[in-house]
Amino acid sequence: MEAMKKNGSRDGARSNGNGNGKTGFHGLGLNPKLMRAIEDLEFESPTPVQIDAIPPALEGKDVLACAMTGSGKTAAFVLPILQRLLDVPRGVTRVLVLTPTRELAAQVADHLAELADHTDVRVATVFGGVGAAPQEKAFRKGVDVIVGTPGRLLDHFQYEYARLPGLQVLVIDEADRMLDMGFLPDIRRILRHLPKAPRQTLFFSATMPAEIVKLSREILRDPVRISVERKSAPATGVMQALYPVRSQLKVQLLTELLERGEIGNAIVFCRTKHRADRLAKKLVSRGISAGQIHGNRSQGQRTAALAAFKNGDTRVLVATDIVARGIDVEALDHVVNFDVPHTPDDYIHRVGRTARAELTGDAYTLVSPEEESTVKAIERTVGRAIERRKIEGFDYNAPAEARLEVPQQERIAAIRARKADDRTRAKANAARRQNGGGGNVGAGKTAGRTTATEVSEGARRPRRASQGHRAPRRRPQ
Ligand code: AMP
Repeated sequence: MEAMKKNGSRDGARSNGNGNGKTGFHGLGLNPKLMRAIEDLEFESPTPVQIDAIPPALEGKDVLACAMTGSGKTAAFVLPILQRLLDVPRGVTRVLVLTPTRELAAQVADHLAELADHTDVRVATVFGGVGAAPQEKAFRKGVDVIVGTPGRLLDHFQYEYARLPGLQVLVIDEADRMLDMGFLPDIRRILRHLPKAPRQTLFFSATMPAEIVKLSREILRDPVRISVERKSAPATGVMQALYPVRSQLKVQLLTELLERGEIGNAIVFCRTKHRADRLAKKLVSRGISAGQIHGNRSQGQRTAALAAFKNGDTRVLVATDIVARGIDVEALDHVVNFDVPHTPDDYIHRVGRTARAELTGDAYTLVSPEEESTVKAIERTVGRAIERRKIEGFDYNAPAEARLEVPQQERIAAIRARKADDRTRAKANAARRQNGGGGNVGAGKTAGRTTATEVSEGARRPRRASQGHRAPRRRPQ
């Protein structure tokens, strides 16, 4: 399998714009401390988005960049930010980076910390699902850079400590995904909260739907426009293939590809959390190490699953799109669309994930007959037919497996039936108690209720006491 090779030097590296024809980071005028970090990371040449975005960002200009995950866009905004921070005193938060997901926030913060390795610039993440106290501390200390997701940031913004009066740079990363996730109103609320003083805004989006163009017009001043990837084209180097198969044989087909070694390590995308959950369990039951990452999992579980996948403990990471977007996994062999993505843009994003800056990978999509029309739309958008493959020796007529997902209507009907049963039982118990026939069972239930009341009273009491010295507003959990 030829997936994921280092290309050595980047064919895509272009002139640095100084007219001396030199490639590499040297022409960009970056501080030696940042150059050392770049060397540590073994980045040989800037990627196209870095070549185009770093110089205007260093001049303090607003930037509007159409660039996708894998293009090197994070370093494109992080390096100019770090350069700016090197010359100013610490102790004031000067940069806020907004990301759509916790994973992307963590990843941006990690990359920033790597590039800031030889500096004293500090970064903190602010997102939900983890304790708010360290985040409050970061605000109070004035950590240099805060990277966060909209919901938790807004929770903090209710408080005086999170006013960010010294803010100089705002980054909006993956703006189109913020739109998809319904975060645009939150973004506007965040913008209203931020100080009005002159500020530099760096705006990144993989695609530019109308609402994103409108938002960018509202917040950017005379931006330098950059479009490094042709819109609607996956990064070069990605080998794409379609595997037509009946819906209920998808698990078998995926297992076959993994067992034959045609797929090495892979992120496998599913349409719903439920399907992701079931698929991960099925793979594990077949002896394939798999983790899962989706919205029903706690932050701790998500972080652990991602870490296990990144360090090679698990071979497959089953994910829903929203959670896994932007996840950067080095040496990722494959992206597998277990379900065809809903839109061509989603397809392009996912496929882009394998082709990181200097790497190439494969993107496989399992296509059921019902999904063919969506595939046609994808092929129209990418401008060509995608290769269709059949696996030699795989029994395409095998009996169907149990369904991966019980249809929603059936699930609802089952829940209703269970609830009706519970109600009937509760009524019968109540009638028995009224007739004095409960005996020990009735006494036990009463005791149980009393205990519950005591616990909840007890839990309420300290809260009331604490309200005396704290504003009675909801604090981030
Ligand atoms: P991003 O598009 O920011 O998610 O970056 C994708 C990956 O490319 C990350 O793993 C970066 O570490 C890597 N990367 C960023 N810039 C370069 C570069 N100039 N050369 C090689 N790899 C890079």
